[in-house]
Amino acid sequence: MAVERTLSILKPDATRRNLTGKINARFEEAGLRIVAQKRVLLSQAQAEEFYGVHRERPFFKDLVAFMISGPVVLQVLEGENAIARNREIMGATNPANAAEGTIRKDFAESIDANSVHGSDAPETAAVEIAYFFSGLELVG
Ligand code: ADP
Ligand code: MG
Repeated sequence: MAVERTLSILKPDATRRNLTGKINARFEEAGLRIVAQKRVLLSQAQAEEFYGVHRERPFFKDLVAFMISGPVVLQVLEGENAIARNREIMGATNPANAAEGTIRKDFAESIDANSVHGSDAPETAAVEIAYFFSGLELVG
């Protein structure tokens, strides 16, 4: 296994309910390090670009509206096998299908307001990290 980095986002439903510390504890308890982090309000253009792969999906408009409805916390998580490990900790996209003990099972409100984003592959992780963070911001 290799040390990887993955992009994580704490979504507006999580910041609204003051859950950022509880969710960060899940990452740290699982051995992932938060090597960069910033709280921002995304613009519509930024959210549309970030989720561009879903542009043709019926939920795209609602997804973008939700992602700009409040602050998000952008993060880079680092650790062994971090991309898949984070997906495990997050749980399934739809909280109704998420395993016990996962972030989405415990915190998500719905399939839209599902508390966290995590990159799904090494290629997307690299693109997503570079979209939000400069090299100087990745202090390790
Ligand atoms: P994930 O975030 O688990 O990687 P996707 O990349 O498939 O999931 O979708 C991106 C986000 O779009 C999801 O986290 C969720 O917020 C939203 N989404 C996905 N599928 C649906 C759906 N069927 N209805 C509403 N929102 C959805
Ligand atoms: Mg995805």
